[in-house]
Amino acid sequence: LKTGNPFKKLNDEIFVYVAKKQREIDELKRMEQFRREFLADVSHELKTPIFAAQGFIHTLIDGAVDDEFVRDKFLAKAARSLDGLDALVKDLVALSQLETGELRMHFERVDMRQLIEEIFEQLESLARARTTSLRLKAPQGPIWVKADRQRMTQVMINLIQNAVKYGNDNGRVIVALDEDGKKHIQVSVKDDGPGIPPEHLSRIFERFYRVEKSRSKEQGGTGLGLAIVKHILNAHKSKITVLSRLEKGTEFRFKLDKE
Ligand code: ADP
Repeated sequence: LKTGNPFKKLNDEIFVYVAKKQREIDELKRMEQFRREFLADVSHELKTPIFAAQGFIHTLIDGAVDDEFVRDKFLAKAARSLDGLDALVKDLVALSQLETGELRMHFERVDMRQLIEEIFEQLESLARARTTSLRLKAPQGPIWVKADRQRMTQVMINLIQNAVKYGNDNGRVIVALDEDGKKHIQVSVKDDGPGIPPEHLSRIFERFYRVEKSRSKEQGGTGLGLAIVKHILNAHKSKITVLSRLEKGTEFRFKLDKE
């Protein structure tokens, strides 16, 4: 009769226990590191618009207010900085809720055709300012998917807005909805802009990562748009991919469950 070695069994159990605790410690360390970096990034990003607005307002107080032309220009610039701050805070709240899983998804039957047509209307003036055309390529009739309507609207606004903002003037943005087998719809947002250099492609979904910082800021970007897109799609069990060719354009793609 073999009873086994009781010491070996105990030894194995201790080994498993220590390995588990070590994994927990590593995870805590990773989270702590993430929290520290996040805080550093956030304070840096918040300081920029605050300093800018402060600068304009103090210059006005110091006398620039007397010159009507300078006054109007500086007030407009201060307002723009504060609008940027507002957008940043809103995006930060959304992102932090998404990251902690606090933001509950409300899945329902959504007609993607209608959702996109509404967004096109919303973005009409931005597209007109860039003389860019917005086109939807999709089969006839409603295209039902299972999604959180509000969050999916945010995803599509971020992607279409980026396509217009970073595309060329007189550009063309095409949103395509295609059947992908029996169960999925493929969504694609494509522009004919300058494209994203390959060395940046894998990083554009990171928070605050921008290929051209000045261009992004000038366009009112917070650097959080694609990070938010990735998280929302993740909550839809979907993954976004990007294809880009320099001087040809960029295409973002993902799949949604049909409903
Ligand atoms: P931002 O607020 O800066 O637009 P995003 O997270 O939405 O932040 O995008 C990150 C960066 O990816 C942008 O700053 C831009 O450099 C690049 N980018 C995003 N979409 C496109 C696109 N369609 N064409 C070229 N570059 C893009």
